[in-house]
Formats: sequence, structure tokens, C-alpha cells
Amino acid sequence: NKQVILKNYVVCFPKESDMNIVEGTITLKLPEGSSDVLLKNLYLSCDPYLRLLMAKNRYVGFGTYTLHSPLAGNGVSQVVESGNPDYKKGDLVWGPTKWEEYSLIPSSQIRFKIEHTDVPLSYYTGILGMPGLTAYGGFFEFGSPKRGENVFVSAASGAVGQLVGQFAKLSGCYVVGSAGSKEKVDLLKNKLGFDEAFNYKEESDLNATLKRYFPEGIDIYFENVGGKTLDAVLPNMRLHGRIPVCGMISQYNLAEPEGVTNLAHLIFKRIKMEGFIVNDFYHLYPKFLEFVLPHIREGKVVYVEDIAEGLENGPAALVGLFSGRNVGKQVISVVRE
Ligand code: NDP
Repeated sequence: NKQVILKNYVVCFPKESDMNIVEGTITLKLPEGSSDVLLKNLYLSCDPYLRLLMAKNRYVGFGTYTLHSPLAGNGVSQVVESGNPDYKKGDLVWGPTKWEEYSLIPSSQIRFKIEHTDVPLSYYTGILGMPGLTAYGGFFEFGSPKRGENVFVSAASGAVGQLVGQFAKLSGCYVVGSAGSKEKVDLLKNKLGFDEAFNYKEESDLNATLKRYFPEGIDIYFENVGGKTLDAVLPNMRLHGRIPVCGMISQYNLAEPEGVTNLAHLIFKRIKMEGFIVNDFYHLYPKFLEFVLPHIREGKVVYVEDIAEGLENGPAALVGLFSGRNVGKQVISVVRE
């Protein structure tokens, strides 16, 4: 049972050498009377928040991985054996699992059984999984979009951002995204339907850049990165603007978080800035599926994935999130395809 384990706690930027690939053991037979399920993991979701669990944490509400144990996160798995009659051998499920080939988990931990298999299974780590629900709940519940409004999305080509942009277009908004390479900017404009996009690494004055794309200001800023981007956005917000705070990836690896100097704009512009965690939205999942599946089937919402083949390539994929190596949702295919 190949596993990716945490070798040491991460300080600043995570490195591949913070993890190890080991050969663990697992009994492929459930003990008598157990209500656990034995899962064969097919796809693992590579998410920025895993970095937070790899450190002794400064953020309230996040746990910490146990050293020398496999990383844990969301995944798509197939039931191999089940001690719970709700799950049968062969069922496909998604939810919390571990970074290993086979996992034994309490059946109560399974999030959802996968009912729709006419779409790629890997989508249940992304558009049909946690990041999709994050984009949907964050944008619609916290962004409260109205037709004709101006929307800015950072980390716009990623797992969450690419969907926020498309949901904004479906809502009749003008949407601009920022991303860290020319390839990503092209993707945003030519494949994902953003009105405009720019490479933030090439802009020396982000405040001026935002003024250029939003001469009348921003109504909704979907916050994925924090730091300098947030500081440049604040003076460019419109009266009664909203900032759903989804993530602040630029801050996760810093020993000292970057200061944001423009917060007073929250007052004068009556801006509503509110953080959320996807766990607040799981009750919306059936409604979300009903909304998003027809759009996928009709090609009205597309999803870009970056699939690393093989569990042994998991550490590099995870580390790559923090230098923008991923183009689209980073997935790990446990079994090479
Ligand atoms: P992505 O797929 O967007 O991958 C991360 C991307 O972040 C990279 O590709 C890179 O893109 C960008 N990035 C990395 N470092 C920096 C930096 N220093 N400054 C600016 N951009 C950077 O990840 P997700 O879509 O999964 O997550 C996006 C955000 O949403 C994260 O902050 C994450 O923590 C958060 N999140 C929050 C959830 C919640 O429940 N609140 C749930 C899921 C995600 P680029 O090349 O463009 O720089």
C-alpha cells in the first residue's frame, strides 16, 4: 500500500523533501463486525489548504497532520469492502480519504456516493467536488451578484477561480481574472470566457492595472490570494461592494503575514468583506449538482484539470501549487492511466 507521508513539519514554503513515499501495510479484509469501509483511491485532490495541515498551525480551526502518517484530503474512491449496508463493493464515492493506494476509513466519513458517471470521475475532486462547491457557495451566497456588475477574481485559472469567473458570466457580469503566466491569461480569455485577464507578475502597479480594467470600480472581488492584491483592490472597490474571502494563498508560507494598508476603504465604501469555509455549504450540494451538471453536459461550463499521474508524483504536485506550476485544478491520479 504505497503512501505519501509527512516527514517533518513545514516551515515557510513546502518542499518535496517534507514528504516521503513509503510502502505501508493494509489488511485487505475488514475485521468481523466492523462498520468501516475499505477504499481503493482513484483520484486525490491537491489543495492549498493541505499546506496548512503540514505545519504546526497558527490558524484556528485547522488541525495538523501526524508525522510519519499519510497526508489526508479529499478524493474519489471505489469501495472494495464495506461493513455498512449503505455502501456496496464497487460503489464510487468522494470525500475525505488518505494519500495512499487503499484506505480504511469509518463509513460515516464518506461525503457522497457518486451517482453521475457520464462526466469524468476526476471532476469529483474539482468542479463536482469541494472546489466547485466553494466557488458556488462563495460567489452566490457571499458575492450576491447582480446582472451588469463588475467582478474581479484572483488565482483565476485555478480550481476555484475558473468556476467563479464562469458563474459570473452566467450571471451577466463583466469579469476580469488575474493569473501568473501568459498561458493562464490566454486560457482565461480564450477558453474560460473571462472578458479580460492579466498576468499579475508583469504588472508593476496593481492599483493602476485595476483602474485600467475597472474604470468604474469593482462590485465583487473574489479573494483567493490576499496580500498585495487585496491591498490594490480595496481602493478600487465600489460603494457597497462585496469581498467573499475564500483564501489567501500568498500568505500561507510567510513567517509574518504581509500588512494590508488600505482597510479603511471598507468603511468609506461600505464594503462587505466576509470569510467562509466550504464546510458551511455541504447542505447546498444537491442544489449545486442540479445547477452545474446540465451546464457541464451542454458545454456551457468547462473545467481545466492538471492531472499528475501516479501517487509518487503527489509531493511535486502539491509543492507546485505555491509556485503556480498547476494549470487548472491539480489532481493526482493514483493509478497511472
Ligand atoms: P489553485 O488551483 O488556484 O492553485 C493555487 C494557485 O494559486 C497557483 O496555481 C497560483 O496561480 C496561485 N498562487 C500561488 N502562490 C501565489 C502567490 N504568492 N500570490 C498569488 N497567487 C499565488 O487553488 P484553489 O483554486 O484550490 O484555491 C484557491 C484559493 O481558495 C486558495 O487560497 C485556497 O486556500 C482557497 N480555498 C478556500 C476554500 C474555503 O473553504 N474557504 C476551499 C478551497 C480553496 P498563479 O499562477 O495564478 O499565481
